[in-house]
Amino acid sequence: MQYKRILLKLSGEALMGDRNYGIDPKRLAEYAQDIKQIASAGVQIAIVIGGGNIFRGVAGASNGMDRVQADYMGMLATVINGLALQSALEDANVQTRLQTAIKIEAIAEPYIKRKAVRHLEKGRVVIFGSGTGNPFFTTDSAAVLRAIEVDAEVILKGTRVDGIYDMDPEKNKEAIKFDKISFDDVLKKGLKIMDTTAFTLSQENELPIIVFDMNTPGNLLKVVSGENIGTIVDN
Ligand code: UDP
Repeated sequence: MQYKRILLKLSGEALMGDRNYGIDPKRLAEYAQDIKQIASAGVQIAIVIGGGNIFRGVAGASNGMDRVQADYMGMLATVINGLALQSALEDANVQTRLQTAIKIEAIAEPYIKRKAVRHLEKGRVVIFGSGTGNPFFTTDSAAVLRAIEVDAEVILKGTRVDGIYDMDPEKNKEAIKFDKISFDDVLKKGLKIMDTTAFTLSQENELPIIVFDMNTPGNLLKVVSGENIGTIVDN
């Protein structure tokens, strides 16, 4: 394996599968199998999951809700997704722990870096819920932050597209995919991979990001084996 410890970022929307809202159990089970494959290969796995399939703070605020209140709702949505993923992984006989930045001790451990690292060393998949625990942030920022904290070698951003293109590949047939691109070039070309806060944190800490298509079974294993099927952003 190319990587020993990774942080996998899954968006909430990815869990919807073919639905318009909520969680598709089939998609969840597929993800669990993919994660199991790399766990069985000895890769230590931390996961940050989004909440956009249930609630987004910005959407709530645009409907007149207090932004901070709306963001807390978004953070709770990530915990719901975390519980769903934990359940799917346990169905696949993968040992897991869910840790949350906002304490909800009846259902998850509080986030404690040292404990998280210990779980990873023991081969447990650690899911981080409730983002950073702060309003006005995103789960992409949480992903970068946790990856740095637990010394992950790379962030794997699983999406429905197979990498970074010079223009939106879902709208332009002529879009060209990058196999590799530098942080500076992403900024120069104005490409959107993560929000600026998350992206800058990754760049400053020299944490590479790999964007790849998570919706094709087996791809996660290819990426951690070192196969370049997506786009790697590095210095
Ligand atoms: N959120 C937040 N602070 C965080 C992470 C998330 O306030 O550190 C809230 C925010 O309202 C966001 C929602 O949780 O809209 C869901 O997260 P995100 O939109 O990042 O999920 P994704 O797009 O990955 O599904």
